[in-house]
Amino acid sequence: MGKTGEWGQFFPAKYSLFGYNETVAQEYAPLTRDQALSQGLTWFDYEPQIPNVTRVIPAEKLPETIDKIPDDVLNWAIKCEATGRLFKIIAQELRLYRKQNIPLPYFHPEERHRQRIAMRPPRKTWHRLCQKCQKPIDSVYSPDRPEIVYCEQCYLKEVY
Ligand SMILES: [Zn+2]
Repeated sequence: MGKTGEWGQFFPAKYSLFGYNETVAQEYAPLTRDQALSQGLTWFDYEPQIPNVTRVIPAEKLPETIDKIPDDVLNWAIKCEATGRLFKIIAQELRLYRKQNIPLPYFHPEERHRQRIAMRPPRKTWHRLCQKCQKPIDSVYSPDRPEIVYCEQCYLKEVY
């Protein structure tokens, strides 16, 4: 491996057990199916199956509070408010929502994940000044963001 230059290198992507579109790489460096395949990457072609359910309910028709959700919801498919994709609630999930008094989700799990990712700051840093001592720092928060940024020393003094 040392002679061929393989030693210390990561496994080639063509040996990945996962399609590029199934990995976190797709969230940070999105590629189309053709782009991934032309680079020798794998792609997972997934056709969602229609779940075997007694009822399909649009998310916006769900009762607003968890106490009005019947146990039968476990046999339903919920139609995502944003994507129209169907998803189910499992018993453990329903138990948690009831225990925490949380309404059922209106969005497909992958849409919820996409919404969470959209709230992250970009993977970039900006040169800023600590807003307490004016020391130069690098921050993931751009200068036009409302967050207060402190240097590590000021942050630790403030928090502890
Ligand atoms: Zn500071």
